[in-house]
Amino acid sequence: MEDHNLKTESGSGGISRRDALKYIGLGGGGLLLAGTGGFYGYRKSLQLSRTDAAKVRNAKIVVAGGSIGGLTVAARLMRAVPDANITIIEPKDEHHYQPGYTLVAAGVYKPEEVIFDQKSLFMPGMKWVKDYVEAFEPDQNRVITRKGDIIDYDYLVVGLGVETNMNSVENLAEALETPYVANVYKLESGIKFKNLAQNFGGGKAVFTYPTGYVKCGGAPQKITWLTEDLWRGAGMRDQVEVHFHTPQNSLFPIVPKVDNAVRPLIEARGIQNHYHQVLKAIDISTRTAIFEERMPDESVREIRQHYDLLHPMPTFRTPKPLREGPLTREGIGGQLDVDRITLQHNVYPNVFGVGDNAATGAPKTAATIRKQAPVVAGNIVDAILGYEPSNAYDGVSGCPLLTRYGRCMMFEFGYNGELVNEWIFQPTKETRLWWDFKVHGLKRLYRHVMMNGYV
Ligand SMILES: Cc1cc2nc3c(=O)[nH]c(=O)nc-3n(C[C@H](O)[C@H](O)[C@H](O)COP(=O)(O)OP(=O)(O)OC[C@H]3O[C@@H](n4cnc5c(N)ncnc54)[C@H](O)[C@@H]3O)c2cc1C
Repeated sequence: MEDHNLKTESGSGGISRRDALKYIGLGGGGLLLAGTGGFYGYRKSLQLSRTDAAKVRNAKIVVAGGSIGGLTVAARLMRAVPDANITIIEPKDEHHYQPGYTLVAAGVYKPEEVIFDQKSLFMPGMKWVKDYVEAFEPDQNRVITRKGDIIDYDYLVVGLGVETNMNSVENLAEALETPYVANVYKLESGIKFKNLAQNFGGGKAVFTYPTGYVKCGGAPQKITWLTEDLWRGAGMRDQVEVHFHTPQNSLFPIVPKVDNAVRPLIEARGIQNHYHQVLKAIDISTRTAIFEERMPDESVREIRQHYDLLHPMPTFRTPKPLREGPLTREGIGGQLDVDRITLQHNVYPNVFGVGDNAATGAPKTAATIRKQAPVVAGNIVDAILGYEPSNAYDGVSGCPLLTRYGRCMMFEFGYNGELVNEWIFQPTKETRLWWDFKVHGLKRLYRHVMMNGYV
């Protein structure tokens, strides 16, 4: 087992809470937002007595997946008990700030701006097992890695995220190799998309939206709208037909108030939205996207759409050890079977879930993790101390909906799609302020506030 104890690796592990807030440009405003409980604020650190801290220190906590979910939970625990026994299992050397992918594809960020050295993200004292989880064995309280090591735990946090399922659209992988097709969900393909969009000579641009759960349910719309605006700004809008095909019945149905505000804006820009349509296959030789239209009256028909540029969306799934292992169950799409309020596993009480892989029904975004991570950390401490979970995730998430260059609608919403903290966000307005915050603030919040456990 490769086991790097990163005692001296600092990254920004030593940064203070005040500096972290100053760095993202919130300062006193951060304190104001904190009062709202909004996702840009932060909670008070976990406060533990010496006896309780000693109990936490004695527990072996293993985190599967060292991205924003797993690391934010681990960092928050470390803030409370700096010598807590925390092991992170993460195979990659390079961490990507995925919320920046859309901005890379839009030519706003350079690719290197979304890449971090994984090692620099660990707080001092965290142990890193650089390997894949191959299997979960929760009845034995252990995890088996791809290299065959056995890692025992007292408490397990599962944060493996979700991945695109390339098999969900016929010929998708092959199409992505052609010069007309790219997708922002992988960094390399996002770079390709930027070049295709910037050099586009006109014609039909086709964007799609998948079925099932979606990592960042706003990203397919954002890239459509930004690209249309790119062509408008370049004076070639009249040479392009922009089509957006979605299985949903509207553009952002999950939050009706935002949907009502954004839909007329987008329609006025001449983007042609096609509802109830699922991408099934791509015919590479004729450059045709093939959709199945399933109407509410249950009628089904095939729709064929020629493309000169295609941004296709496959469906998503969880990584294999989760979707084929004992921590999921029938009917939840291979996700981790957790209670949506406590984030504790429904069968194994010493297992907790955070982020995209958890079957909460909440959006799969870093903004969701901002709210979930303190709940998970708090409930692990409760479990170690012998209490029932006392921390509740309220389902709140956030979304920066980039509607055009220099404009963003920012909002937070709960499990039922109801807006929260409307007075701060003014969610139905496209503003420059929130664009600037998305471009300049959120990455720092992610890296320096969340990953340092100040949530
Ligand atoms: C194009 C795009 C745009 C987005 N825009 C936004 C946005 O504007 N706002 C926002 O809040 N969010 C956005 N997101 C979503 C956000 O990036 C994710 O919600 C977030 O990264 C999820 O974090 P996670 O820790 O749950 O999973 P991930 O970040 O996906 O990380 C999972 C980790 O698990 C590791 N892993 C996988 N399999 C194994 C295994 N078998 N063993 C061990 N480790 C494993 C991976 O290497 C990875 O490090 C966007 C995402 C994309 C792709």
